[in-house]
Amino acid sequence: MDNFLAFEVTQVENVFARGVIRKENESLKEQQVNIKVDYSDVNYKDALASSKKGGVIRDYPRVPGIDLAGEIVESQDENWPVGKKVLVTGYGLGVSADGGFSQYQQVPVEWLVALPEALTTKEAMTLGTAGFTAALAVQALEKEQLPKESSLVVTGASGGVGSIAVALLHRLGYTNILAVSRKKEQVDWLLELGATQIVTPEEILPETPKVLAKQTISAVIDTVGGNLLSGLLPQLQYGGAAFLCGNAGGIKMETTVLPFILRGIKVVGIDSVNVQMPLRKTTWDFLAEHQAMIQTLNYQEIRLNDLDSTIEALLAGEHQGRTIVDMEVNV
Ligand code: NDP
Repeated sequence: MDNFLAFEVTQVENVFARGVIRKENESLKEQQVNIKVDYSDVNYKDALASSKKGGVIRDYPRVPGIDLAGEIVESQDENWPVGKKVLVTGYGLGVSADGGFSQYQQVPVEWLVALPEALTTKEAMTLGTAGFTAALAVQALEKEQLPKESSLVVTGASGGVGSIAVALLHRLGYTNILAVSRKKEQVDWLLELGATQIVTPEEILPETPKVLAKQTISAVIDTVGGNLLSGLLPQLQYGGAAFLCGNAGGIKMETTVLPFILRGIKVVGIDSVNVQMPLRKTTWDFLAEHQAMIQTLNYQEIRLNDLDSTIEALLAGEHQGRTIVDMEVNV
């Protein structure tokens, strides 16, 4: 293979451009492997990386794509031989280094995770960073050893992280999962995933913000932040916990110390980018154990040259479920 297709973003003197281009194959860099990418997927961060003032990419040109899964086709590392199936999420992929929106990609060996046997590359990317983040949050919640009938809340439930968190909690046997979603049309699907009740943000927030509210929630997996998270913290029960994954609705969190010092609540931050390798591996194994859950997810498959419309939908808040990118198909 001399050349291949990739989706690249460029910015020259304030003129921003993006699109599918043909790239030349380069000789293998030290401590890297070359991967024939089967699938990538599209996350909100990819949409930001692919837009002019997204604030994600510093050096252009760059191939975005924070996730990829495929097969090693060139390697000088005997631990990572040619033919091995691997996946990569986070680190600098698609941000400070070229990423997954490419038919081939060279990646440092220390970023590689062996594809769990129970997963195909397509399934791994249906989960992607969203599934990985949801799994990190759910595993953190499991450490609380809450009774299975505890009242759990997942916000941004129709999104990638939220929907997979709902599905995982259901598979782990939790029986009281309240999904917060603005999308009435997603109610049936969220019930199928395992949510037991669906409410809008307006329905779960008090009319007037309170410092301490009625204690109705044992734990929250939050992907929205902003006003919604601020309104949920005072509703946490004594000893409750909030697992903060995202900021789809804003980066601010308004609170007082009272729920912390009077109710002993805690807030746990969830990061998917720089997770240490041992936790990375066990988290992918955890996802592989729940492989059957992937069939219940809502995903669409696109090609490299369809990325434009997916990026616009994500930026407009109109994207639903997960989008995976099939690299096999020529554009
Ligand atoms: P999606 O765009 O798929 O989903 C986000 C969901 O949040 C939407 O579907 C919507 O759900 C809800 N939402 C969006 N905008 C608003 C708003 N203005 N107010 C209230 N709700 C809103 O994104 P992901 O699930 O992939 O990611 C969710 C968040 O997590 C993002 O902020 C992302 O950057 C972050 N993230 C963080 C990671 C980490 O390492 N911590 C890794 C991956 C993602 P609904 O309409 O159902 O309410």
